[in-house]
Amino acid sequence: MLGSVLIMPMPPVYSFVIPIYNEESNIPELYRRLAATGDRLQAEVEFIFIDDGSRDRSLSLLRDLRDRDPRCCYLSLARNFGHQIAVTAGLNFARGQAAIILDADLQDPPELALEMVARWQQGYHIVYAQRLKRRQEGPGKRLLAYLFYRLLRRLANVDIPADTGDFCLLDRQAIAAMNAMPERNRYLRGLRAWIGLRQTAVYFERDSRFAGSVKYTLRKSLSLALNGLVSFSRVPLRLATYMGLFAAFVAIVMVFWVLYWRIVAPDSALTGLATILIAIFFLGAVQLVSIGILGEYIGRIYEEVKGRPLYVLAEVAGFTDDV
Ligand code: UDP
Ligand code: MG
Repeated sequence: MLGSVLIMPMPPVYSFVIPIYNEESNIPELYRRLAATGDRLQAEVEFIFIDDGSRDRSLSLLRDLRDRDPRCCYLSLARNFGHQIAVTAGLNFARGQAAIILDADLQDPPELALEMVARWQQGYHIVYAQRLKRRQEGPGKRLLAYLFYRLLRRLANVDIPADTGDFCLLDRQAIAAMNAMPERNRYLRGLRAWIGLRQTAVYFERDSRFAGSVKYTLRKSLSLALNGLVSFSRVPLRLATYMGLFAAFVAIVMVFWVLYWRIVAPDSALTGLATILIAIFFLGAVQLVSIGILGEYIGRIYEEVKGRPLYVLAEVAGFTDDV
């Protein structure tokens, strides 16, 4: 039994978790900066790349990295499952004492990990990066993001810091808490705030994308924003109640108004198609909006109860003795 000598590599201290969706033009530079940061950390590191169903050469570049540098490992998802799920998969596989989540397009500078690690060593469980400036993102997107984060802060039942994305460091305890959350409508920055523990911020200026095009289309961004709102607030549901109460109030006022005119000036009775049309459309709108809001919540319940796995893996390399 003792005949063979097992050479066990040291378990990593730091796991970098990086979702990749069609990022072939960023991977070489990303790797260069990651490797340099890894060297400066002076501890075992692993770089976990999650290929989120890329259709360009990303996966084959990741395979090459794996061959060149044993610190690199990757997961390849069976199709495009979306950024939040890709990060979740990475966290499921992370073996380090701390995981650093960052984007592949170098908008999140890997070097900031050094600062995050310093805060972690001071005893924080979660260190999130807060943006001071968004460079070269259109004014429309900046304004939308600004308004959305403030709205979310008012409505959400957890305190989600403004201007933070998914760029953060999570320690073992926080990773375990994240991994224990089964929900599929994942709004990671909200879940991270929900965990609690000792959290702190480090500040940075968000660079513009190194290369390639934005993978978060406006549609994906809006759907993420909606997910954040619906997952962390029930205020929209209450909105339906408020709209209903308001409509009832208007109706009661109308009753007295009509009665008044009947008594004071019976000849000038309230007539006119316009009045009726407006009333019908107003009530129709209130009802449809309310159903729509309900639908957002019910649709999510439906997805959750199906209980499907969060993702399907097509290929894994670098985690056990697989490659
Ligand atoms: N991404 C992903 N799956 C997707 C969309 C994006 O894994 O369906 C990755 C992408 O490769 C990048 C990160 O998520 O590493 C952020 O994407 P992007 O830079 O396009 O978004 P933004 O900077 O606008 O947040
Ligand atoms: Mg980006």
